Amino acid sequence: MEKTTTRDVNLEGKVVLIKKEAIKPEFHEEKKRMAYCTGGFGCAPNSLGSKVFALMLNAGEDTTWRREHIECVCEFNEEEQTMVDARIKEIEGIKEYNRNHCKICEKDMTDEKSYAFDALSGRPICKECQDAREAELEARKAADKEAGWC
Ligand SMILES: [Zn+2]
Repeated sequence: MEKTTTRDVNLEGKVVLIKKEAIKPEFHEEKKRMAYCTGGFGCAPNSLGSKVFALMLNAGEDTTWRREHIECVCEFNEEEQTMVDARIKEIEGIKEYNRNHCKICEKDMTDEKSYAFDALSGRPICKECQDAREAELEARKAADKEAGWC
């Protein structure tokens, strides 16, 4: 991998390194700072906007940075590029799966009409799991009442 300047470069579609100072110490390793830029006004050089949306290649998470958080652009040889492309494809696949499957029971939700969303992960939850969750909550409340907590 070669590190090149971000100057005058449109970052969209490029893999970059996020600066260490923008990231927690436990993620300072280079491979954990690699991000695939997917968009945002900050991708364009000389843009007034500074937001850069990027996919962290190690964690597989969507993140938002500012252009000044970007240390350099990563240039890969053919072999490395193949691996990077495969990783991006893999993450997209996982995201697609997560969008369509219940977070709890993994049921395929593609044809489900009504369902809830898990607030934390944004993943759908099927009706059955939602009902089970509510029943559990009710049971806990009842138990608390019995124990004299409320
Ligand atoms: Zn479910």
